Amino acid sequence: MFKQYELPFASDALEPTIDALTVETHHGKHHAAYTKAFNELAEKAGMADMPVEELLANLDKAPEELRTGLRNQGGGYYNHNLYFSTLSPNGGGVPTGELAKKIDETFGSFDSFKEQISKLALGQFGSGWAWLSAAGDGSLVLSATANQDNPISLGTGNKPIFTIDVWEHAYYLKYKNLRASYVSELFNIVDWAAVEKLYLSAK
Ligand code: MN
Repeated sequence: MFKQYELPFASDALEPTIDALTVETHHGKHHAAYTKAFNELAEKAGMADMPVEELLANLDKAPEELRTGLRNQGGGYYNHNLYFSTLSPNGGGVPTGELAKKIDETFGSFDSFKEQISKLALGQFGSGWAWLSAAGDGSLVLSATANQDNPISLGTGNKPIFTIDVWEHAYYLKYKNLRASYVSELFNIVDWAAVEKLYLSAK
């Protein structure tokens, strides 16, 4: 049974960056629906006991008629677990420790990293995600994906540690068509300590 990430804060706790209704709809409806559908498909495929990362990396081992569903619903489940677990009312600021060091080394500076991942988020045509992932050797990689795809289901072998949801449901109630404002404001609530934890465990 795949468990949806439970928010450790109230739905209005991310305001003014993300409004309460968006959190309630996004987590309580969209993410919950992906979780439910994914569990049903994984059960059918006989893959419900695998870690989600392993399942997404091995979609070719699922029955053919279930693969697209598993990729979409499993991606929706996994991507939102990561997204919500790296947001916090106490977030913002800049990364510290080993993650900060690696970001500076890879992108030149935190500002340059922000600029590059924001560019990917804004450049993703239609629905999708921008990603910061760690490769096995600890190097950091940026990417963007469409729909509910992610670096795991696309077979890159990299482990996502931070993501920006650019589906309209993530921002439209408050930001309307202004995706750039949403992306820029989102950095006010990123929990960099959580991202660093993921980075350290990914290496
Ligand atoms: Mn979403």
